[in-house]
Amino acid sequence: MEYCHVCGAPAETEAFLEGAKVWVCGRCVKFGKAVGAKPAARAAVPMAFPAGGGAGGRFGGSGGFRSPVARAPARMRTMSVVDGFGAAVKGAREARKLSAGDLAKKLFVNEKELAKIEREELRPTEAVAKKLERELGIKLLGEEADE
Ligand SMILES: [Zn+2]
Repeated sequence: MEYCHVCGAPAETEAFLEGAKVWVCGRCVKFGKAVGAKPAARAAVPMAFPAGGGAGGRFGGSGGFRSPVARAPARMRTMSVVDGFGAAVKGAREARKLSAGDLAKKLFVNEKELAKIEREELRPTEAVAKKLERELGIKLLGEEADE
């Protein structure tokens, strides 16, 4: 007596199961093909792809908002005295027939200080440079491009 290849119960018939001709019982014959039929190619089971893929997008971050870069930092723009200020001061003063003393008095600047400025031994402060600019009609200050 033959026994069912699948469950071991007394076999009732032969069938092709997974391509082999085996004995099966009445319940298990449905797993195979009855003899005489060709073994079916196994149905291709579509692989289950994980829907929506795991490693996918980086939609997280807070990329959306950016503060405008144009906004200047709170830093003051500094004015700097241009090169050649001494000659400019002296030239303009002499063109106006002013003595160093006269100019110093007009500007409330120490005369010795003014002389040093004209020799470029001393850089005028921004305040003094502005007074010189106004008085002599010259340009002594340039805006320093910070950065
Ligand atoms: Zn069986």
